[in-house]
Amino acid sequence: CGIVGYVGRDDSTKALDVVLDGLARLEYRGYDSAGIALVAGDVVETRKRSGKLANLLTELDEQPLPEGRTAIGHTRWATHGGPTDANAHPHRGGTDGKLALIHNGIIENFHSLKSELLDAGVHFESETDTEVVAQMLAELYDGDLTAAMLAVVSRLEGAFTLLAVHADQPGVVVGARRNSPLVVGLGDGENFLGSDVAAFIGYTRAAMELEQDQIVTITPESVTVIGFDGQPATGKQFHVDWDA
Ligand code: GLU
Repeated sequence: CGIVGYVGRDDSTKALDVVLDGLARLEYRGYDSAGIALVAGDVVETRKRSGKLANLLTELDEQPLPEGRTAIGHTRWATHGGPTDANAHPHRGGTDGKLALIHNGIIENFHSLKSELLDAGVHFESETDTEVVAQMLAELYDGDLTAAMLAVVSRLEGAFTLLAVHADQPGVVVGARRNSPLVVGLGDGENFLGSDVAAFIGYTRAAMELEQDQIVTITPESVTVIGFDGQPATGKQFHVDWDA
């Protein structure tokens, strides 16, 4: 339902702060669970809880996250699988603890994709349509998260905004959208992603709207857009001039 992504240059508490602040600003959309993933050394750490953001904050008090420079956060409105801790996003893909993904929308063909993955021996931890995408992304990952995302979206039907991080690419967040919103926030030595500009309005007013069927890769210094056809593309830049 609500999506936030952040990447900066140096490890600090900012990645966590930006994502939690963004999730709070997106609360107005309604949600039943919340979670965050942060790249921490060789792995991606996740914390997630059903219920209000306050529950996630309690979880973060009990199980603090280290400093980081790359994080994604999600507030969920359950469509497939009840509002439980296990079904909350982020979802991990693979078994090495390196990949995490969040999703807004619905993957219409998740049943057939899930059977395929189950036949291949993949183990699932949730009942969501989303985890199918996380597991496919892990299966297809070969050192380039953008390339893996491009391969995954060609298999998906439905509406989705997806954000993913991988510990082997610690300064990168990859996003994709089809019939579901995704906006880039342009910073100085840092960049942002959000399901709407409220996600990052406290930090930057320079934004870029993606078009349908596009993939965006953000690092602290760059924003790169391609279409689902793999061809280079551009977003439309604009200035957010309303007050948060
Ligand atoms: N379909 C996904 C789920 O139920 C995402 C829901 C959402 O947009 O928050 O987990």
